[in-house]
Amino acid sequence: MTLVNDAAPAVRSTGRKFRAFTAKHLDELTARAGLSPEQRLATRAVATVLPFRTNAYVIDELIDWAAAPDDPIYRLVFPQPDMLPEADVAHLTGLLRREAPKAEVEAAAHAVRMKLNPHPAGQMELNMPSFGDGKIPGMQHKYDETVLYFPKQGQTCHAYCTYCFRWAQFVGDADLKMAGDDVDQLRDYLVAHPEVTSVLFTGGDAMIMGEPVLRRYLEPLLELDQLESIRIGTKSLAYWPQKFVTDPDADDMLRMFEQVVDAGKNLAFMAHFTHPRELEPLVLSEAVRRIRDTGAVIRTQAPLIRSINDDPAAWESMWRTQTRMGMVPYYMFVERDTGPQDYFAVPLGRAHDIFRNAYKNVSGLARTVRGPSMSATPGKVCVDGVVDLFGEKVFALHFIQARNDDLVNMPFYAKYDPEAVWLDDLKPAFADRFPWEA
Ligand SMILES: *Cc1c(COP(=O)(O)O)cnc(C)c1O
Repeated sequence: MTLVNDAAPAVRSTGRKFRAFTAKHLDELTARAGLSPEQRLATRAVATVLPFRTNAYVIDELIDWAAAPDDPIYRLVFPQPDMLPEADVAHLTGLLRREAPKAEVEAAAHAVRMKLNPHPAGQMELNMPSFGDGKIPGMQHKYDETVLYFPKQGQTCHAYCTYCFRWAQFVGDADLKMAGDDVDQLRDYLVAHPEVTSVLFTGGDAMIMGEPVLRRYLEPLLELDQLESIRIGTKSLAYWPQKFVTDPDADDMLRMFEQVVDAGKNLAFMAHFTHPRELEPLVLSEAVRRIRDTGAVIRTQAPLIRSINDDPAAWESMWRTQTRMGMVPYYMFVERDTGPQDYFAVPLGRAHDIFRNAYKNVSGLARTVRGPSMSATPGKVCVDGVVDLFGEKVFALHFIQARNDDLVNMPFYAKYDPEAVWLDDLKPAFADRFPWEA
């Protein structure tokens, strides 16, 4: 058993140090956004339920404070007073106002979290495989060829997104967390499952780890010939590009990426970009250039979020800029059925319109992107459009990924519903059941 520990040798910094802002800075920051005392208290109430964390780069370089609180980047990181049901916010606000004991606030916050479907798509129960004496903590194996791993040290981010579907990983509740740190167990599992060709490190954000810690996860996998690719799910390029440019371990990190590529693996950065503004800073272009110089490939993805990026121009701009910089557009996701989904959801018909109106304007090189895609329990379902068939208005859909691989790329239909925001809202058309239903 090789447990990855956090001990890392001291290194000298060459740039401005990473500085996180958390719930204790919220009042000061929301004052800067011009919120009234009442709104600020309600924001703090929401932040007892949903995680809040941001950093100096997001605050100084990305947010347009003159436009806050309507600024899309402000909305991307700051909890909104109306993100949760009014009665819950009123109750929590009351507790904060009378300075109720911490335990009482936490108990009330926990009760609200449990109503927010903290683990969508049966993540906890369905995906964690059994192996040897029990389950492997921090692993999901949903599709034959791909294993997801949640390294224990990667369970935070440089900043949190308000719409994050993994929000439950970042709150105090231990029973909502998935994480592992036994690299031998991961490797043994892969050896026993030669069908796995891709390992995806996710979290949180795998790039929150320093080079020495990440190396302990990656190195043992390099000798596995079955692995064609190692993926790293990350928002670090948007939230802290200094990680690859001026952070003390930036150069070592890039050398490790080279080592992965030299071992004959495709090192894929699954970079999360939500809004075109995240692509503007010079330090970001420098980070992209340095990562690409190692031979790693950067693929981009993000969910479609009401009030943040529900506009074809935003997606067109992102896909164009990403392609120009040598990144490869990959997925547009539909916001998952968890957390404040009601607040951010875009109906599927509208999501498809936004996708199409952006996609039709970009060059074939950017049409590597797929979506809008729902990562749901049976697989990843893509909305192909709304069509009239046999006098009936229906959604045309297909699986990009499926637990049952016979379903991949097979078209199917659902009754059109202008309100539908997720797979569960859909009813089969021209059939009594959907193809994944027995
Ligand atoms: C999206 C996803 C993957 C990766 O699927 P690709 O289509 O290969 O990108 C793996 N596991 C889960 C649970 C996913 O949602």
